[in-house]
Amino acid sequence: MTDHSSQTPASKSGGKVEEITSTANPRIKWIKGLGLKKNRVQENLFVAEGLKLVTDAVDGGWTVRMLVHARRLLEDEALNQPIGELAAKVRARGGDVLITSDKVLTSIARRDNPQMVMGVMEQKFHDLSSVKPADKDVWVALDRVRDPGNLGTIMRTADALGAKGVILVGETTDPFALEAVRATMGSLFHIKLFRASQHEFLQFAEGWRQNGGQIVGTHLKGAVDHRSLDYAAAPHILLMGNEQQGLTDELAQACSNLVAISMAGQADSLNLAIATGIALFEMRRHDLPSMGGTI
Ligand code: SAM
Repeated sequence: MTDHSSQTPASKSGGKVEEITSTANPRIKWIKGLGLKKNRVQENLFVAEGLKLVTDAVDGGWTVRMLVHARRLLEDEALNQPIGELAAKVRARGGDVLITSDKVLTSIARRDNPQMVMGVMEQKFHDLSSVKPADKDVWVALDRVRDPGNLGTIMRTADALGAKGVILVGETTDPFALEAVRATMGSLFHIKLFRASQHEFLQFAEGWRQNGGQIVGTHLKGAVDHRSLDYAAAPHILLMGNEQQGLTDELAQACSNLVAISMAGQADSLNLAIATGIALFEMRRHDLPSMGGTI
């Protein structure tokens, strides 16, 4: 297939603009390859789809290496301006802009990406040693979370409820997989992400507790109702178990308290993301703004 791409050099410090009309273009093939975890890890990059997510990434200071969008957006009255502004920001920070035909973009985007916008950006994990017990802060830790949809939903919920960050413990699903990124609805770019082996987390947990922090584990056999603790009395980590196996014994033993979320029906347990939302809401209740109005 002939590649009809053309390159337009940008200003000296800025990224380039490239027009691509062939699905065989090497950069298009390379972006497609980022669908695989091994390539994402090797390149330390990932892909986010949609104008909102890429804008959130740029505004949040994330490094966007490439903005890819369909040419027809430039003729779209509603999208022309936001895409132009986004492209200018990406180029000003050294990222490239690829303008493609619909066919090319469709070959690398998910079918339900009607805005035909994608960004290729650098992964970012923060250092766990920067997490210190302070004020009434709440952090979320997840033991071996497996499902990318659960992880993305938890990051979105943690962001919405004002948690300080999410700590991934042990072997987890990739937070930079497209499904996880999508489920965050942009919160990936607003909330800090950490990772640790179980051993590293246990060492960190010891220091956290010695410095006045609490760790609350949610457990089906929790001895305490999750609503009975005073979460405003100390900084807390909310520790959630794996979808199939719950918390490991070692992690459960590292908790200051193991709490249960009461249930009334026939279900054995709650979905992990739902349980995180319920527990986190209770922990953050003291600091959440009132929505006003009483009956
Ligand atoms: N079979 C697993 C078990 O025995 O723990 C069920 C795990 S559940 C689907 C996933 C996680 O959500 C649990 O490890 C726990 O952290 C949390 N969870 C779900 N329902 C809960 C409840 N009713 N009380 C406390 N934690 C719950």
